[in-house]
Amino acid sequence: MASPHTVSATRKHVQVKGVVQGVGFRPFVYKLAQSLELTGYVFNSSSGVTIEIEGGEHQIDQFLRELRENPPQLAEITDISVSEIDARGGTGFSILHSREEAGAFALVSPDAGTCDACWSDFGDPVNRRYGYPFTNCTHCGPRYTIIRDIPYDRATTTMAAFTMCPACKAEYEDPNDRRFHAQPNACGECGPSLALIPRGSPLEECSFADKDSLAIIRRARMVLRDGKILAVKGLGGFLLACDARNESAVAELRRRKRRPAKPFALMSRDVAAVRTFCEASDEDVAALLHVRRPIVVLPRLEGAQLARGIAPGNSTLGVMLPYTPLHYLLFSDSPDRPSEFQALVMTSGNLSEEPIVVSNAEAMRQLDGIADWFLLHNRDIAMRVDDSVVRTFEGRERVLRRSRGFVPQTIDLGIEMEEVLAFGGELKNTFCLTKSRYAIVSQHIGDLENYETMRFFEETLANMKHLFKVAPRVAAHDLHPGYMSTRMALASDIERKIGVQHHHAHIVSCMAENHLRGDVIGVAFDGTGFGADGRIWGGEFLVADFAGFTRRGHLRYVLLPGGDAAIWQPWRMALSYLRDTFGRQMPGELPCFRAVLEKQFELVDEMISRQVQTVQTSSSGRLFDAVAALVGLASEVTFEGQAAIALEMAAVQGTDACYPFEIVDVEPMILDFRPMMEAIVKDISAGRPRGEISACFHNTLSAAVVETCCRIRRSDALDRVCLSGGTFQNLYLLDRTVIELRRRGFGVFLHATVPANDGGISLGQAVIANELIPRGD
Ligand SMILES: [Zn+2]
Ligand SMILES: [Zn+2]
Repeated sequence: MASPHTVSATRKHVQVKGVVQGVGFRPFVYKLAQSLELTGYVFNSSSGVTIEIEGGEHQIDQFLRELRENPPQLAEITDISVSEIDARGGTGFSILHSREEAGAFALVSPDAGTCDACWSDFGDPVNRRYGYPFTNCTHCGPRYTIIRDIPYDRATTTMAAFTMCPACKAEYEDPNDRRFHAQPNACGECGPSLALIPRGSPLEECSFADKDSLAIIRRARMVLRDGKILAVKGLGGFLLACDARNESAVAELRRRKRRPAKPFALMSRDVAAVRTFCEASDEDVAALLHVRRPIVVLPRLEGAQLARGIAPGNSTLGVMLPYTPLHYLLFSDSPDRPSEFQALVMTSGNLSEEPIVVSNAEAMRQLDGIADWFLLHNRDIAMRVDDSVVRTFEGRERVLRRSRGFVPQTIDLGIEMEEVLAFGGELKNTFCLTKSRYAIVSQHIGDLENYETMRFFEETLANMKHLFKVAPRVAAHDLHPGYMSTRMALASDIERKIGVQHHHAHIVSCMAENHLRGDVIGVAFDGTGFGADGRIWGGEFLVADFAGFTRRGHLRYVLLPGGDAAIWQPWRMALSYLRDTFGRQMPGELPCFRAVLEKQFELVDEMISRQVQTVQTSSSGRLFDAVAALVGLASEVTFEGQAAIALEMAAVQGTDACYPFEIVDVEPMILDFRPMMEAIVKDISAGRPRGEISACFHNTLSAAVVETCCRIRRSDALDRVCLSGGTFQNLYLLDRTVIELRRRGFGVFLHATVPANDGGISLGQAVIANELIPRGD
């Protein structure tokens, strides 16, 4: 109790953890403390933000409440610890220099799309940043892509090369300014600048001396209007741009990029423009406008005026809004002027499956055969990061590719973790590090099938281990001996290694992000995963927890003829399924084999009958391939999942009809689709439209999943179902299965923050390894 002679001042030490650096947290604390007449200081430390405040008890309570309830918009507080210390008196509140502490780690903010206030700055002809493509503030701009080290200060970013002009410095030092300690703060006077050069130009002659960025961007717009392909250096790498309405430009980009069919992403200036060619619900709009600014997959409007080559045969389009002033200015000088393009193609600047290109030199070399012009800038990119891809389902954003804007945001697992490095899968690879209660999943690395992608993995891993000060004690990896990620794990110097079954990792990944413990029914449907019996799994029903699983059911094994070739030639799977169904009594000539050379057909048929160069597979992805080929949709494909997507797109809505199937009650149960195959062949011969066949097929698969889950519930008394694996990115299948499972009283859990595809398995691997490692050694 305070005596009447002393001033009743209280002093508190406050430690704030989470994403609190580079998001305007210190100025927020500064202003708040001043408004409440509190004294003390704030500084960035390696573990977050440290505050000491002193003053009246009531004001301190109010301070803490505001801290919790109204932090800056990009901040993400994971923990606030408060302790009382001796009062010290003193006057004023100050911001001290950053301090580094050994072993501590702070969370780094992902890159954030340009905020409204910055839009107004660079769109205003009388503002000193008019037309300046690198405008940013504490609420927006580059973060992860420019960080070389922590604590996050200008000196540890790629902005260190630029010295602030007096005007920028004044903003940077004024706690009442929106750009107070905005590390990438810059203007046309002092910051990064642009250059526009044609292919083949020597980079040495590119001085970046021209400060009139707007004039350069207007020339870039002309290049695009001319139907040329423009390589644009952005936040996390180069993008290749062309006018999305220009049929020949899009076709040329496909040809040069050697990408015949995979959809291209689009960028439009605003939501109104997006709505001229796509449907967008309120949730979709929220996802588009979110500071992460991901690519959002949207239903395409009938009759949309876009080049046909953008997403051939696809009824959806991936669209994003500009996330830097540079991207915005490619459409118009300012918001009040009409946009010059309804949409631009914006696809990763890379060769086919290689990582996205980041440096000017790399771009001039590797994209030389693709881009006609290069829009370069002289701010280095510290980390390669692709655009993220999301979709909304049941009113919630679901991540399909987790990169820019998401990474390196942590996933709070709610349990104390060992430091684990999970190497992920082979396709759509990500890796995952754990520390304290958090999982840090890397950005999308890509398919680990070339040297460049492996280098990308290694450079990102080195960077993240350093940023988050993680020294992994355990390496978790897939069971597939041929995966590059497995080999990298086995060759690493981490002593303890734990192999994790692919589909177990899928299910635990889904459990972890939904904070589930104990046993669940896990349905893992995908293209390929190495099974515990050495066969190729991919249509799996597991009863699983973090520590292990029992395989309770799977699709009936069929032969995968010729390994990977079967993935690129779905007709092989059609043949395999037909042989499995009809044996030697094959139905008469089917249209799907007409384009196949007789010799090749016989060779594959021979493989199947003699079981040479074949493996057994229970993959649901291959079942989709077989049906897609049978109905004449995809005899051959150029990217994984293409046939399944075509089949999904073909399905007509509004039918509940199913084909027959059988569930053989052995341990594990076998889902036998031979009766369905027989019926499909009949339907094809009878000329039934493929849209109906496709819908029936989807309904059948969904019914089989639901029935199998019901049987497992009866025997195991479990009623929580986790759905994971790339096959569940099929919305027709997912929607129907979720509704039916819920109708039967199951609790259904899906992915949202990590992908259902193989991009999510590193998280599951990490959690499983953490569970399996003996404690205290
Ligand atoms: Zn801003
Ligand atoms: Zn400046």
